[in-house]
Amino acid sequence: MRERPGMSYRYRCDQCRTTSPPVLTRAGLADERRQHRRDFHGGHIPDGEHVIEPEPFRFTDVPLGQWIVGTLMILIVLAGIAVRIL
Ligand SMILES: [Zn+2]
Repeated sequence: MRERPGMSYRYRCDQCRTTSPPVLTRAGLADERRQHRRDFHGGHIPDGEHVIEPEPFRFTDVPLGQWIVGTLMILIVLAGIAVRIL
């Protein structure tokens, strides 16, 4: 499966002009932040730090082909259920 670039968190520090490598979880992000604060700012919270979060899922992101395949599969499942009931 293709990894979407927006699906990971990154920690950004404007003071240092650095961005952490992408991490997949909020826990990983918290580690990056804590490590950066400790190693570069003596544990202080730098001004201008922020988190680059994954974009919320949008239905418009789903390609048309996947919509068609998904719809067909739902129809097939529903048809299968209907055949058993009727
Ligand atoms: Zn920094």
